[in-house]
Amino acid sequence: MSRNIEYAEARSEKARSAATNDSAEAELHAGSRGPASGASVAPEPAQPLRLFSYGGGVQSTAALVLAAHGKLDFRVFLFANVGDDSEHPATIEYVKSVAVPFAAEHGIELSEVTRGGVNPTLMTKMKRLESSLPIPVRMDQTGKPGRRSCTQDYKIMPLAREAKRRGATPESPAQVGLGISFDELERMRSAVDPRIPWQRRHYPLVDMGVTRAECIQIIARAGIPVPPRSACYFCPFHSGEEWRRLQRETPQLFERACDLEELLIERRTRLGRGAVYFTNQGAREGATLRVLHAHEQLTFASDATCDGGHCFT
Ligand code: SF4
Repeated sequence: MSRNIEYAEARSEKARSAATNDSAEAELHAGSRGPASGASVAPEPAQPLRLFSYGGGVQSTAALVLAAHGKLDFRVFLFANVGDDSEHPATIEYVKSVAVPFAAEHGIELSEVTRGGVNPTLMTKMKRLESSLPIPVRMDQTGKPGRRSCTQDYKIMPLAREAKRRGATPESPAQVGLGISFDELERMRSAVDPRIPWQRRHYPLVDMGVTRAECIQIIARAGIPVPPRSACYFCPFHSGEEWRRLQRETPQLFERACDLEELLIERRTRLGRGAVYFTNQGAREGATLRVLHAHEQLTFASDATCDGGHCFT
């Protein structure tokens, strides 16, 4: 494992000029539009399909830069968008205004994939009257996160469907890169997911020994802004600091998260089920986000995170 990563220098003036032309045509492809889901992209029978799961955060943006500079062998990056009403707006804005033009400038495809269907976004699913909740809400009293389906339904499967559509098969599986950094290698999973035999997971940043701090350097040296942490703004995996930052920097989003938590508690109560909360501290104390904030108690650390490398990367 080499930790001696040679970073490419910032883009030349010529490349910047090319960016102006190319980025004008760059488009984030969604739904049935563009190369993300159009029928025009033919599979490459001679070589295994190589896709990178782009999360819009620090690690996968560093992977995008490394690919752009020839340090990583991935030319297709797929952004699984959980929904413009669910993902933090700063991430959506970063992907559209920074990552997509940067990718286009370097001849890399960066396309969007979505779940589609009846509940096209995570927020629409949660607002429906359902007894099971897709996100990792904290269970009454214990504070432990409940089983979640959000990552599987809104990130893993849209990407897997796209891999299959592009020709991946169990006999010729797609190589899917995930943005786990070397300092987070405990989040790695085995290469094979038995539910998706037409894919193999790869962790190129771990292989290269690149840490999150080095990812930030890689991005900065490429001359593009470092992205914010990518996650749904209401994710119950947030730490106390992340909730405080949400409240401080985007109070309207914090309010929306409070409203959603209260809606879920009210619904669960009506169904005769135990309350659920967005914080482990709140679950243990029976206090909502709004109450914790009012008492300046959003001070806890997160005790869990999303594994698999599909969220927060
Ligand atoms: S960020 Fe949190 S709520 Fe959003 S998909 Fe990932 S685990 Fe689920």
